[in-house]
Amino acid sequence: MKGTRLILMGPPGGGKGTQAKVLQDKYGIVQLSTGDMLRAAVGAGTPVGKEAKAIMEAGKLVSDDIIIRMIADRIDEPDCANGFILDGFPRTVPQAEALDGLLVKKGMTLTCVIEVRVPDSMLVERITGRFSCAKCGAGYHDKFQRPKTEGKCDSCGGVEFTRRKDDNAETVVARLEAYHAQTAPLLPFYEKKGLLRVIDGSAPIDEVTRQLEKATAA
Ligand code: AMP
Repeated sequence: MKGTRLILMGPPGGGKGTQAKVLQDKYGIVQLSTGDMLRAAVGAGTPVGKEAKAIMEAGKLVSDDIIIRMIADRIDEPDCANGFILDGFPRTVPQAEALDGLLVKKGMTLTCVIEVRVPDSMLVERITGRFSCAKCGAGYHDKFQRPKTEGKCDSCGGVEFTRRKDDNAETVVARLEAYHAQTAPLLPFYEKKGLLRVIDGSAPIDEVTRQLEKATAA
């Protein structure tokens, strides 16, 4: 796993973030989530955050320019030298092409691209039930992953939890539309390069992790 450079692709609510965090904790490979970066920018009120806020709340995609700049800066940081897991990036063909260019410039290659496949019918329940610890960001779900002690974070003991503003039934529809129209076309892009592996993201979390580890090692 060490040195692995992975892209996790799949629909919103498909479990990319959950799996990226599992691998990050287990193997020390850093998770690069453009969604998390944007939410931090919105929270901090930076110019990027101000531009992105309404777009994110509408479930649409933020401009390629902003996203590519963000990733180009992040990949240059020293913790990425041990490998990284891209979660939620690339989401458009121009982003994928820009990533190719960045990697060539740095003399890096991708280990593989994993499609975490989940049917649309499961996603609304997954997304509308999720929440996270306000202190450490650990993820939970009303039905599938409650804290072991009610109201207390398993990881840090925090007692405050938050829900994402875009995790509601209406916005999910727009996010799914964006996924199918703009992101799914990347699957054949990576398949042609021989990098694509598909795993069943509808399975329980541990089972998806097992499939992911197997697919990455293959
Ligand atoms: P996520 O946390 O990956 O579900 O992303 C949340 C929202 O952030 C998305 O619905 C988009 O509005 C925006 N976003 C995150 N990553 C990207 C990306 N690679 N390209 C465009 N918009 C993005």
